[in-house]
Amino acid sequence: MADMGKVIKEWESVLSRDPLDAPWDLIDETLTLLKEHEEKMEHLNNITLEYEKEVFRLQTLLKEREAVEPVKKDMVEITARYEYDCPCGAPLLIGQPYCADCGRPVKWV
Ligand SMILES: [Zn+2]
Repeated sequence: MADMGKVIKEWESVLSRDPLDAPWDLIDETLTLLKEHEEKMEHLNNITLEYEKEVFRLQTLLKEREAVEPVKKDMVEITARYEYDCPCGAPLLIGQPYCADCGRPVKWV
């Protein structure tokens, strides 16, 4: 059985000690760092979001440019079909109302 007198003496010794101050400086510093970290992460997230939007816009632009290429190719092909020469041998351009060499009128429609 424990010696109650000894136990009480030990508790009195513990209770008579000066209370410790909580490490407020450390806590304040930690809270400041946490706040700074949170702000920097929010800033980084915003930049990342903007960057992703830019990447998406750039990808959209590239897709649109790719979509134009076949139409361009078709335009070149169809334009080539309209290129022909006047009976006098001079080349005729689309919409040209008269042959530049012999003056023969060209009916386009
Ligand atoms: Zn001609």
